[in-house]
Amino acid sequence: MIPKQNFAPRVLDWFDQHGRKHLPWQQNKTPYRVWISEIMLQQTQVTTVIPYYERFMQSFPDVFALANAPQDDVLSHWSGLGYYARARNMHKAAQKLVDDWQGEFPLSQEGVCELPGIGRSTAAAILSISRNESLAILDGNVKRVLARYHAVPTWPGERKTEAAMWELAETYMPQERCGDYTQAMMDLGATLCTRSKPRCGECPLQADCEGFATGTPTEFPKSKPKQAAKPVKATQMLVLREGNRVLLEKRPATGIWGGLWSLPEVAQEEDIVQAAEQRLGVNVNHVISLSPFRHTFSHYHLDILPSELAVVSTPVVAEQTKYQWFEMEKALALGLPAPVRTLLETHEERRQLI
Ligand code: SF4
Repeated sequence: MIPKQNFAPRVLDWFDQHGRKHLPWQQNKTPYRVWISEIMLQQTQVTTVIPYYERFMQSFPDVFALANAPQDDVLSHWSGLGYYARARNMHKAAQKLVDDWQGEFPLSQEGVCELPGIGRSTAAAILSISRNESLAILDGNVKRVLARYHAVPTWPGERKTEAAMWELAETYMPQERCGDYTQAMMDLGATLCTRSKPRCGECPLQADCEGFATGTPTEFPKSKPKQAAKPVKATQMLVLREGNRVLLEKRPATGIWGGLWSLPEVAQEEDIVQAAEQRLGVNVNHVISLSPFRHTFSHYHLDILPSELAVVSTPVVAEQTKYQWFEMEKALALGLPAPVRTLLETHEERRQLI
């Protein structure tokens, strides 16, 4: 992504003519007031935020008022805005500012980032808007504008892409009118380069916007690559009990759970009593269905349908070396696949409770 010429001046010219300049947080731009607006505006539309912001400022006009307020009071001012962790973090951050910084915002971006709920972009927004510092933001709006302007071919959430976009954002950040520029980029994304209907005809970046040139700017930013859904397999697992003993099967050395002791399995559609009696040489007294559960491997899900079979064994099984009876305590000390261990442990706990 190669930076293009004359980016900031075009954005600032547009802002001078069309940008929003009368929002409540654009008056008396202290770090505190900008901070509250930035947090409220995360995931929330400007028109929704305005009345909340005004009420909040009336009740908590400065960081001391916010820090000293009971949390319930802060949360009641947030009621209806959603994402309440934002309010709780803000309250904690206000207390930290009062305790550690005498109620002033730290001078550095790193210092601001240490406050609960404030990341790199929000810190940059607070400092550039309130103190005119040359610090780039990369919020959702700016990501969308830059992804379209450069027709960024990969998902911005990918680490490399995000790093490249931060670099671009920093390159375009001017040294003067920093607060206006930050505001302008937010406005451009929120009002012109909107998610579903960008108004490219009115955009100051249209002449060299690569997304516009493709004819389908809304295809940017690229979405997160979808992971193919994992296939689902199912198996019946048999917990064959004879008194305190359980029958285990040694898995083949290679493949899933290679070499571990596991429970005998039969295919989902098979009759478990018949399969147990014919293949494992046992007489089944009774069967209890246990709760099914899912185990996920890297390439598939395995739905495990377990049953307990109370049995009487015959010597046939003892001769088959891959099957072996174990006292439950000994069985649990063997190398078992995780879901088999969980199944036996839960099963054993349940038995002890009966
Ligand atoms: S030209 Fe269209 S797609 Fe490109 S930045 Fe402007 S509004 Fe967005």
